[in-house]
Amino acid sequence: MTKILVIEDNSDNLTVMEYLLSKNGYSVFTAVDGEKGVALAKKEMPDLIICDIQMPILNGFEVVKIVKNDTKLQRIPIVAVTAYAMVGDREKILSAGFNHYMGKPINPEEFLVEIESILPAELRLTKQKID
Ligand code: MN
Repeated sequence: MTKILVIEDNSDNLTVMEYLLSKNGYSVFTAVDGEKGVALAKKEMPDLIICDIQMPILNGFEVVKIVKNDTKLQRIPIVAVTAYAMVGDREKILSAGFNHYMGKPINPEEFLVEIESILPAELRLTKQKID
């Protein structure tokens, strides 16, 4: 079972992402702040982490710093999902250690394709052909 951890403080966004992933067979774990997210990552060792940037307690930049400095967690791909749209933020997000960046709002038709393009092929559940 491919495990995906979603860390997001906005309940509407969290619900959409959880729904889209779980209905396609992924085992989804959710956390509503960065601290809970890091704790759940250590407990569940997910195959992929999806992480908001602006969150209470630990924000996304603090979460990615912890994940990428943790010898057990650092190989897990971590995707930033954020409404940040200012010029330069994409570079800031990638240079902080995120492996990928997705903009909000979530587009339900593109979300799964994009997430699966980041997962190693053997962990994708929908067997979509991705160019
Ligand atoms: Mn947020």
